[in-house]
Amino acid sequence: MADYKILSRETLARNLEAVIQRIEAARIKVDEHHIVKMVVVSKYTAIENIATLYDLGQRAFGENQVQQLEERVHALEDLPLEWHMIGRLQKNKINKLIDLDPFLLQSLDSLDLAEALDKRLEAKEKRMECLLQINSAREESKAGVAPEAAVDVYREIKERFSRIDLRGVMTIGAHTDDKATVRKSFETTRRIFDELQSEGAEICSMGMSGDFELAIECGSNMVRIGSALFAE
Ligand SMILES: *Cc1c(COP(=O)(O)O)cnc(C)c1O
Repeated sequence: MADYKILSRETLARNLEAVIQRIEAARIKVDEHHIVKMVVVSKYTAIENIATLYDLGQRAFGENQVQQLEERVHALEDLPLEWHMIGRLQKNKINKLIDLDPFLLQSLDSLDLAEALDKRLEAKEKRMECLLQINSAREESKAGVAPEAAVDVYREIKERFSRIDLRGVMTIGAHTDDKATVRKSFETTRRIFDELQSEGAEICSMGMSGDFELAIECGSNMVRIGSALFAE
């Protein structure tokens, strides 16, 4: 595994506080009752830093690779952490992921993957909570369901795959410095989320270090923050 830098408790406490303050300011601008949950994306940081953030009060962490998720779940198994899988799930890693019992798979990105996942969940007599990933900016490099198909795919997964508990949607904002384009990708996802609330959708996961305030303004209630927390 890569050799990640261990940060001091003071540095992590300062970064955590700064990010929480920014989330707080953004969510209050939307509505004082609007709650936003933060998932700390730990993929580029040392295990020690995760333990320190836990000690500082953070519970939810996300990884984008099953292999690294597995290492960390095991290394930190004494802590009551909530693990999110946020990266592309290859079919040959499905069994491993199920065995890790993640809190939430945020990157369910096709009907095909849903079918394979459901089959393996059935065999293991387990269930999994998932978000449907939407390719809101229609970027070829990104996974996810096309916006115009998202509502139908969500309904079809709910109907056909009884071991998958869909809880909402996830997106990665458009990969550009043009704020209007990023906003558009978040607004597209928000509209889909609104349409799916009648189907029980509760989570709208969008916003990373570079764009979480804009995402919250557009209706996000779950942000996934990595690099902003691990600056020195
Ligand atoms: C890496 C990653 C993040 C966090 O990115 P930062 O810019 O470091 O905050 C969020 N979501 C997904 C899906 C990621 O892969």
